[in-house]
Amino acid sequence: MIIAVDGPAASGKGTIARALAAHYGIPHLDTGGLYRAVALSLRRAGGDPDNEGDALAATGFPDGLLADPELRAEETGVLASRLSAYPAVRAALLKRQRDFAHQQGGAVLDGRDIGTVIAPEADAKLYVIASPRVRAERRATEMTGQGQKADIDVMESEIAARDARDMGRDNAPLAQADDADLLDTSELTIDAAIQRAIALVDARLEGYPKG
Ligand code: C5P
Repeated sequence: MIIAVDGPAASGKGTIARALAAHYGIPHLDTGGLYRAVALSLRRAGGDPDNEGDALAATGFPDGLLADPELRAEETGVLASRLSAYPAVRAALLKRQRDFAHQQGGAVLDGRDIGTVIAPEADAKLYVIASPRVRAERRATEMTGQGQKADIDVMESEIAARDARDMGRDNAPLAQADDADLLDTSELTIDAAIQRAIALVDARLEGYPKG
């Protein structure tokens, strides 16, 4: 069974995907982490973000980078969003994601193009959204919790810019698949959002072969 969870930055998709993986007892892949690792790898190698060849070279990052604390930094996300628009970068990361999705027993993947490009055949697809203001507030709370300064208005405009880039690119843009269930988490607590996600996935999995 494959569960695809897509949505914009700070929509709650990562938290929901992890909770679904725990609930159904299957592994989870945060595909944004792969693009972030490309960004970190390029920066550390002194590569040029405007050069697609440099970005492609950075897709050969060591797996250890996926656990690097700098992966979660806002600027890493912004650079990842720029590099993820390169077709060569997306193509280089495709097989890894598809293999993960098709492992025996199933998997949950979250990202931007899981339900549309990586696993259009997924058994259940969620498209998780929240208002830009709520997402900015969540990011700011996360950052102040890590002892960093955060201005909600700045966060909101950064989030809007990232949405525009992720939705506006030609290659695998962020979009709701026709057969994805929409889940708006703006007004929901984390627990309520997870319960709703499980209910939506259960409804899609009805009749799915057991065992
Ligand atoms: O989800 P996260 O914020 O970690 O993703 C960082 C960036 O990686 C996104 O803004 C997006 O541009 C890119 N990404 C993507 N496709 C995915 C996952 C992430 O293009 N499946």
